[in-house]
Amino acid sequence: ADFILSPEIYQSLSISDIDSGRYLKSIPRLQDFLPASQIPRVCNPATSKVSFRGLDNYDTSPNDVVLKQTVINPDKRRNFARYLRAGPRSWIAFRPEEVRAAIVTCGGLCPGINTVIRELTDGLWHLYDVRSIVGIRGGYRGFYNGTPYLELSPRTVDGIHRLGGTILGSSRGGFDLEQILGAIRRHGLNQLYIIGGDGTIRGAAAIAEACMRERLRVSVASIPKTIDNDIPVIDHSFGFMTAVEEAQRALNAAHVEATCFPNGIGIVRLMGRNSGFIAMYASLANRDVDCCLIPELPFEIEGPNGLAAFVEKRLQENGHFLLVVAEGAGQDLLAASTEIDASGNRKFNDIGLYLKERLQAYFNRENIEVSMKYIDPTYMVRAVPATASDQMYCAVLAHSAIHGAMAGFTSFTVGPVNGRHAMIPLQDVAGQQQRVDIRDRTWSRLLSSTGQPSSFLNQPAAALHQTA
Ligand code: ATP
Ligand code: MG
Repeated sequence: ADFILSPEIYQSLSISDIDSGRYLKSIPRLQDFLPASQIPRVCNPATSKVSFRGLDNYDTSPNDVVLKQTVINPDKRRNFARYLRAGPRSWIAFRPEEVRAAIVTCGGLCPGINTVIRELTDGLWHLYDVRSIVGIRGGYRGFYNGTPYLELSPRTVDGIHRLGGTILGSSRGGFDLEQILGAIRRHGLNQLYIIGGDGTIRGAAAIAEACMRERLRVSVASIPKTIDNDIPVIDHSFGFMTAVEEAQRALNAAHVEATCFPNGIGIVRLMGRNSGFIAMYASLANRDVDCCLIPELPFEIEGPNGLAAFVEKRLQENGHFLLVVAEGAGQDLLAASTEIDASGNRKFNDIGLYLKERLQAYFNRENIEVSMKYIDPTYMVRAVPATASDQMYCAVLAHSAIHGAMAGFTSFTVGPVNGRHAMIPLQDVAGQQQRVDIRDRTWSRLLSSTGQPSSFLNQPAAALHQTA
């Protein structure tokens, strides 16, 4: 009884769960915890500039919401989470001349970070006439370690969207809440734009909470950055599609190598520590991939149903084999790594190399000559500038963050939910991870594209039990 929720159906239904506001994901505003005397009620210059051009529907109604689920099963009424629509509000909570905005980038690189920095700067400057924007250098520690803040203006960010990486620099570790709060007070910062992944978002949530607790007039907006696409709620994260696109070059090279030598095997390792989205989408797009392994899919190498037997069978049929593996796949097969990075993330062992060695050993034993090529394009994929669609996407994200912060919202992140940009409470994404559902239809499309079996375990029943 699944059906797709169109606006007409939505209006004709009086589903009490939707209408009651029970599932509305509200976002704290400075107005909620600061005295009215501290919050000016300023007419939004962004909307008046746009109305001037004859667009009178630019304002976002405060009651506009975006539904997380548009495929609704009336029997399962738990799916009605809804988020405030992002966009400019008629009234804002800051006078443009008193805004002192800071932008910081943390964690790993991802295509599009510079576009977000540029659009945050340009948007604040041109839409809201803000003139005080600084870039914090080298991640969270740049708030307080004495590195001078970088003054940003449309001139300083001109053209940076064509560069990979982040002009502000990034780092892991170095999150010190007290020192960051001290820097916020010392520099009079009142809007923070924090670009980063899951760790960064947890840090942003801690800063936002502390600012509210201490009654500081500071809006904290996060722009979610994860090349792995593992942030929940939002449709997909920026840079993800660029990564899928860029990965094609490695897959094509591996395929060429595999097809030109007898029993050629190409192995490509792609990003994806806990979630296999890049590997799955890159394989789906490529169509030449014979097998895709992701962290969500437990597998065995040996045995009649194992990976090696499948590779052997395909080599007999086709003479070549293209294997894509996400970096977090099969970690249970490797000796557990005890190393952690400065942010406390566990370092992973190289599953690509491991597979190469194990498959080589298998074919040596079987007396079958193979030609194995291993490609690891990880850093090449991360460091490229964003493709056209990600450029546009990054610009909208930046604007959503600005509109929200200017209106006094805090402790929120932004992103598309069913194609409509929304503001999402930080606690809905902090500490949670989106993973590939290997019982879902996208993974089944992957299986029909590669032709790989649904399980490489010798006892499939155990597999179902493990992943359920
Ligand atoms: P990615 O995983 O995409 O590279 P990330 O944001 O998860 O991005 P991390 O290196 O894990 O990258 O974290 C980035 C920053 O966030 C670091 O400065 C780290 O100190 C800080 N951080 C990580 N976890 C927390 C946490 N639980 N609370 C506060 N700060 C955190
Ligand atoms: Mg992370």
